[in-house]
Parts: sequence; C-alpha cells; structure tokens
Amino acid sequence: VEQKVPEASDPPVKVTVRISPAVGDAMLRKVSKNSLCVDERKFTFDTVFESDSTQEEVYQSVGAPLVKDALCGYNTSIISYGQTGSGKTYTMWGPQSAMVDDPSISGLQGIVPRIFQDLFSKIQQEQGNVDGKKINYQCRCSFLEVYDDKIGDLLDPTQRDLEIKDDVKNGFYVENLTEEYVACYEDITQILIKGLSNRKIGATNINSKSSRSHVMFTCIIESWCKDSSSKCFGSSKTSRICLVDLAGFERNVADNASRQHVKEGKYIKKSISQLGRLVNIIAGRLPDKLDEVPYRSSRLTHLLRESFGGNAKLSVICTIRPDHKSSSESISTLRFGLRAK
Ligand code: ADP
Ligand code: MG
Repeated sequence: VEQKVPEASDPPVKVTVRISPAVGDAMLRKVSKNSLCVDERKFTFDTVFESDSTQEEVYQSVGAPLVKDALCGYNTSIISYGQTGSGKTYTMWGPQSAMVDDPSISGLQGIVPRIFQDLFSKIQQEQGNVDGKKINYQCRCSFLEVYDDKIGDLLDPTQRDLEIKDDVKNGFYVENLTEEYVACYEDITQILIKGLSNRKIGATNINSKSSRSHVMFTCIIESWCKDSSSKCFGSSKTSRICLVDLAGFERNVADNASRQHVKEGKYIKKSISQLGRLVNIIAGRLPDKLDEVPYRSSRLTHLLRESFGGNAKLSVICTIRPDHKSSSESISTLRFGLRAK
C-alpha cells in the first residue's frame, strides 16, 4: 500500500455546502454549481448542493473520494458544520432506521454508513491475491462525544470524562475509550446505532443536549502485505477515517439562557474557533504550523490533531437553512467554510 504524497493539484481541504429543505419562505439562491448568494453576498466553494439533493449525490461527491484516499494511506476527515436544524446529522448519518437497509432501496443513508459499505467492499476486493501478494486489513472503531469539553464514550455511556494521553513514548490515545474491531458493514451499523442511541439523537431543538455536543466516529485502518508463503513484507500502514458531527453553533443565545447553557456556548465557540485555525493551516499546506495553535486547549481540536497530521485530507460540509431568519447564521457558517479555502 503506497503512502502517497499530496500533489499540488490535489487540494487537502474540500468545502461543500448543502442547503436543507425550506420550511416556508426560502431566500437563499444557488447561483452556480459551486456558488450561492446570501443577502446579496456571493460565496464560492467546491460544490453547492440544493435542498433537493439526494444522500447518494452528496456521498458521491464527499464520501467516495475519501474512501479511496483512506485506502491509499491518507488520514481523512469529514466535518459537518452548521446551525442546529440545518441537516448536519441527517447528512452525516441519515435516519437510524435507514442504516440497516440496502441503500439502493431506502436511499436515505447518510455519508457515514455509505463510507463503510464502500470501504468493506473495496477491502474485500483488495484482500484477494494480486501478483502473488495479499493485502491484509484490520479495522477498529471508536465512537465518542465531546460535551462541555468532556469526552464521553458513546459505546460505554458509564465513561463520561475520559483523558487524552499524548506522549512521546506511547503516542496518542484516549484512555479507556472502547475500541471495537470491525470486519464488515453489519459490524459498523451495530456500532453506529448503539452509539447514536446513547447520544439521544432525534431531539433537534436548541435546548437538547444532543445539539450541543460534538460527535466523533473514528476508524483506524491497518494494512500490510503478505506474499504467498504468508511472510509479512513491507511495514504496515495505518490511516484514519474521522467523521465529526459538530455541535450546533448559534450566534444568538437567548437572553434567558441558563448559566449551564452559556458555559456550553462558550466552550462550543472556543472549540470551533480553534478548529477553524487548524483547518486554515491544513488548507494552506502548512502542517508544521499545526503545533503553533494551542490545540490542546480544547478536547475537540486535541482529538482532531492526530487526524490532521501527516498526509491529511479533509472535507468540510457546511449545512445551511434557506429561510430568511437564518441568514446571519448562514453567513457565519459560510465564513467558517471560507477559512478552509
Ligand atoms: P442538525 O443536526 O444540523 O441539528 P438535523 O440533521 O437533525 O439537523 O435536521 C433537522 C431536520 O431536518 C431533521 O428532521 C432532518 O431529518 C431534516 N433534514 C435536514 N436536512 C434534510 C435534507 N437534506 N433532506 C430531508 N430532510 C432533511
Ligand atoms: Mg444534529
């Protein structure tokens, strides 16, 4: 498995905008394949999806290239960003009921289940013998949530405040975080359904806890070559797929917000502004500068630092609502997206 060096023509960060279906008046205009207008301001990205876009279209644009990159040895991440109710969760996971269906039937699966359907089918093909060589793969997953700067294990909800260990001797890991080995798509859907249920998803109102936590699903893929005598040759390669559904980012916190709510809001704001700086650095191909950002000051960026290092590829999906009321939130979401350009 070749470890690829990114080429100049191959941008390390890709930004996609998805407009969610309108409820009532829609004021947003898509003006071309990759640009849109909000309040007479024009924003240009890699791709803009209209509110009638399908999960399959979004997958083909955002997810499918990532699977190829991950199998080439890149550390790959997808981050969904936008105000509460703009379709982050729908885009990333899709309805839980759809996860166990065949995508060709329901078609509602989000990017994450589709990635693993694709990944395991490619792994199966490559595990066959090619020129007397056999590539072996081993994948393991974890699923966590960062709520108010505390890491909770979504596969073991009794673990609510895990520590990040990051030292020269043992490398980077989250202490006591559940890791499960996965060998097929069904293994993944079980983990996704279990983890998302622990997040108490579904409640999308601003006051629900689920909209104020960052959720991160990570899969570590190890691969190594064997010849026909089963002798290992070449060193093993490791890459990561990191999939993040960010907390809803609301600019206008209500006047009557509780103290807890204000505290959470401060954390979300800080973690997202730190994230914006890291994304900006990857987009500028300056990985050496990553360590100049105080990424350890928020758990979110501390966790993502590992996926952003080395040969990294990142897709940012900005989800926005088309109604007039949301225009200031939309502009702030699109500005975040522009940091990646
Ligand atoms: P968020 O995670 O950003 O808070 P959700 O993904 O929960 O938002 O979306 C809010 C609601 O809108 C959900 O009921 C979801 O099913 C619906 N929704 C969002 N985007 C789409 C879309 N592109 N097509 C159909 N329904 C959508
Ligand atoms: Mg959500």
